[in-house]
Amino acid sequence: PEERLAEALAQLNDAQRAAVQHGRVAVVGNTTRDERPLLVIAGAGSGKTSTLAHRVAALIARGADPQRVLLLTFSRRAAQEMERRAGQVLVRVLGLSSQSPPALPWAGTFHGVGARLLREYAAQIGLDENFTIHDRGDAEDLMGLVRNDLGLSTSARRFPLKGTCVSIYSRTVNTRAPLAGVLKHAFPWCADWEAELKRLFGAYVEAKQQQHVLDYDDLLLYWTEMMAEPTLARQVGERFDHVLVDEYQDTNLLQAAILRSLKPDGRGVTVVGDDAQSIYSFRGATVRNILDFPAHFSQPARIVTLERNYRSTQPILDVSNAVIAAAAERHAKTLWTDKPSAGQPQLVLVADEAAQATWVADRVLAHREGGLALKSQAVLFRTSTHSAALELELARRNIPFVKYGGLKFLEAAHVKDMLAVLRFAQNPRGRMAGFRVTQLIPGIGPVTSARLLDAMDTAVDPGAVVRSFVPPSQAQAEWARFADAYAALRQPSLSWPADMDIVLSWYLPHLERLYDDSGVRRGDVEQLARLAAGYGSRERFLTELTLDPPEATSDRPGPPLLDEDYLILSTIHSAKGQEWTSVHVLNVVDGCIPADVAQGAQELEEERRLLYVAMTRARDHLHLLVPQRFYVTQQAVRGDRHLYAGRTRFITAADAQRFEQQTWPPPPPRAPHVPPPAATIDLLSRMRAAWR
Ligand code: ATP
Ligand code: MG
Repeated sequence: PEERLAEALAQLNDAQRAAVQHGRVAVVGNTTRDERPLLVIAGAGSGKTSTLAHRVAALIARGADPQRVLLLTFSRRAAQEMERRAGQVLVRVLGLSSQSPPALPWAGTFHGVGARLLREYAAQIGLDENFTIHDRGDAEDLMGLVRNDLGLSTSARRFPLKGTCVSIYSRTVNTRAPLAGVLKHAFPWCADWEAELKRLFGAYVEAKQQQHVLDYDDLLLYWTEMMAEPTLARQVGERFDHVLVDEYQDTNLLQAAILRSLKPDGRGVTVVGDDAQSIYSFRGATVRNILDFPAHFSQPARIVTLERNYRSTQPILDVSNAVIAAAAERHAKTLWTDKPSAGQPQLVLVADEAAQATWVADRVLAHREGGLALKSQAVLFRTSTHSAALELELARRNIPFVKYGGLKFLEAAHVKDMLAVLRFAQNPRGRMAGFRVTQLIPGIGPVTSARLLDAMDTAVDPGAVVRSFVPPSQAQAEWARFADAYAALRQPSLSWPADMDIVLSWYLPHLERLYDDSGVRRGDVEQLARLAAGYGSRERFLTELTLDPPEATSDRPGPPLLDEDYLILSTIHSAKGQEWTSVHVLNVVDGCIPADVAQGAQELEEERRLLYVAMTRARDHLHLLVPQRFYVTQQAVRGDRHLYAGRTRFITAADAQRFEQQTWPPPPPRAPHVPPPAATIDLLSRMRAAWR
């Protein structure tokens, strides 16, 4: 295999190979090992992710146990992609059949892996192993309830809304900063409420513990705190020989702390990233993590930089480099490529968003006629709502598309209902799920629901409480049906995904009753049931779906149809790490990128990086669209207004010259002057003559 491995690595360039081989140092006559942590810091498209995949494959080919390889990526989709790529190499190197590359059981996101470890060590840290996870919506609802309970929502001065409260709370957790500091710097208009917020957050934490639920932030926070206990930290750290992280520039302080606690001396740690692509600081990510990595562990890191870009053509690189070259603070990187160029990138001035949609749809079809599948084309935009006009245009022309980072499949009420049933069965203490489920039953309102949930809170056997509960008389028959389903779902012998059948047969009659369009919705819930079959257990399904939902929707809600050809629509944030042959970027105007709410030098810099990320997704064709009339919805003014916008300030007039520039629709040609034909009758003088 060593020979075949060498063959597989022959395609890599020297720097990439050095990163893959890091750790093996042959000193003449004997081999030693370089045990330092490894940092690969390099620009977009330079093969960081490929290098990481090859490194994983090489480690396993040389005998590393896949069970002991922890691979942390930004999304579950990215983890699966990495597993696939490493698998391909391994199949070749180990001479396996392509059906059986070794799986990477510990490939996932920080949050996903955190959830698994917390469940495993639940008993030792006093957590209920059946805890369920609150998504952002649940977190806000619970925050809202606690806020009401404390009487904060009725106070005379307007207390921050539940969503703001969750944002403040989340920020203090992710940045590990004291509340006062967070308020002062990020939420100055809430600073007066410090004492009340402190009380609120205390009660919020208690409510979560009481209900055995964790929110997203807790997964990292509890994991970090668990690692503060030396024995546990050692136990967890020793499970892994290698810890590898992609997109390290978008990790936050908790994630960096977790990494260090897993491997204090940095042995076996590899991280890759690009400081110029750090775009998640609004969620508490800090680019300091990657800049400080070299001195983060007890041993200094080895740093490898990659300079050759394999993704884009030189003209695309030139315009992207020009955008980022003006960035205030970054690791200077020069990227080059010898990829043959397919023409200049385009800067297209369109009249408005409707013209933008038409232009893009035309161009997409033209590319397809030129042999480019829809799937190798993508349209990127800043926020999910920006694709509305385009979605209509695509639907009108029957161009199939799938949208990432948009309205989530899981946000549909009927899908939430189904999941709530599963969650309530998994964790009877979870009140958000409990409220949702029980109130689906006609005759059960919030008061009855609360009475039941209170009784279940303290019960040893919550199933028995459901069974013996006496609902209002008009709800009795339906209650019995629910109690049966609930008991069936709580059967320890139940084997996944049989749960789904029980939920379906209980829920479908409610679905029919509740919704006029129950036919469409029925399709969704059935799709959910099919999706469930792809997961190993109920708890895995719930955890992974909540943390990293299949975030695609097409013109209908539902996971994508994987075997069709479809255009990709994606927010720039969700496009991270990916590439397409042709990329359109919508609304490249001041007011959108940078957003008109971006304030201060740091926020503006992040906007610049966002544009850089968008542009560097393109392999051969890059189209930047600049609508001259652009609508923005401003929460502050609560309504729409439109702006006469101009090209983003990140592309200077000089840099604009590097693009092929177009205006569309083209200005109407002025009608050529044609002299009128000579008059054949003298009508005018006849009119005058009539009065003489
Ligand atoms: P990003 O910063 O956007 O995440 P990246 O640095 O992770 O980019 P990759 O996605 O790994 O870059 O690689 C970009 C493209 O270059 C991929 O299509 C990959 O297959 C290709 N590539 C990487 N290395 C090589 C190589 N040595 N030879 C040929 N192609 C390569
Ligand atoms: Mg990458």
